Amino acid sequence: MGPFPTTRTTAPKPKPADDTLAFGKVLTDHMFLMNYEEGRGWFNPRIEPYGPLSLDPATSVLHYGQAIFDGLKAFRGDDGQVRLFRADRHAQRFNRSAQIMCMPEVPVDIIRASFDALVGVDADWVPRKAGTSLYLRPTIIATDVMLGVHPAHSYLYFLILSPVGSYYKEGVKPVRILASDSHVRAVRGGTGEAKTAANYAQSLAGQKDAAAAGYTQVLYLDGVERRFLDEVGTMNIMVRIGDEVITPPLAGTILDGVTRASTLQLMRDWGLKVTERAIAIEEVMQAGRDGTLREMWGTGTAAVVSPVGTLGYKGEDVLINGGQTGEVTQKLYDAIVGIQYGRTNDPHGWTS
Ligand code: PMP
Repeated sequence: MGPFPTTRTTAPKPKPADDTLAFGKVLTDHMFLMNYEEGRGWFNPRIEPYGPLSLDPATSVLHYGQAIFDGLKAFRGDDGQVRLFRADRHAQRFNRSAQIMCMPEVPVDIIRASFDALVGVDADWVPRKAGTSLYLRPTIIATDVMLGVHPAHSYLYFLILSPVGSYYKEGVKPVRILASDSHVRAVRGGTGEAKTAANYAQSLAGQKDAAAAGYTQVLYLDGVERRFLDEVGTMNIMVRIGDEVITPPLAGTILDGVTRASTLQLMRDWGLKVTERAIAIEEVMQAGRDGTLREMWGTGTAAVVSPVGTLGYKGEDVLINGGQTGEVTQKLYDAIVGIQYGRTNDPHGWTS
């Protein structure tokens, strides 16, 4: 795969200092593009200077939201080498999202080649400071120009890159989470398992209400009984009750998080008891009240793990582990970060 036709920018942008980086505000100098037409397949892969797309106002994605994306990171190791974390697994999930949204899949080797080629062209944009990384955002949008709801016949794949700062500037920090009894995220048979734009659009109102009530993020309960944990904001959720770590199963309503899979694997490697099963909010609140809820954390590419210090539900707050980061949460963070920066050995070959 590749080399891809490449047009280099003649006006490179100034690179921000590593310690000023936030998330997603700065984009690099180049982007990868590729088109799709039914009957022809994917064609015209290329790298161009980063810049606006020109879309007809009747382009179907703008009306009916047929769009998928994924998000992964490249890390500059202490040895100077740039490594992607679980690129193939992200590519497979991207294709799973495509299936759910009636969009064409992209062969995994082409996705991977696009990652490597663009990160290679913009290699100087991979920041160096501890905790920083380069975020990759592969996306597919439906580009048919016509009104009327239908699975499109033409698509655009694009990949853009953003240097991002350390999520935790002063160490892993617990957050306040609100289990919502008014907003839901997904139902079985819906799009909850896809990384599709609509899921994020419909999460805004719940997020706004949680923020107004003094919480950082929303913990979504299942969309039918509003009883079982689904996921939190843009993270999967895990609880440690007694000696068992429990996380909701992949049943079509939650994203198959790459950090979820990675942390489950590590905990199993360490001999911890890990169970994927439906877990009711009432069970978690009760464990919080009687002191058996030892830890709770979210998992995701942005933060790796995010400890929950306070869980609110129906007007009651429970404090978890005295509001401090728990032992397994911290151990998972250290282990994943060590692998990402090439500081420790990588027993499962997650970086490449
Ligand atoms: N759930 C949702 C809804 C998300 O957007 C994300 C972030 N991609 C996650 C879970 C965590 O997935 P990952 O560990 O692959 O980043």
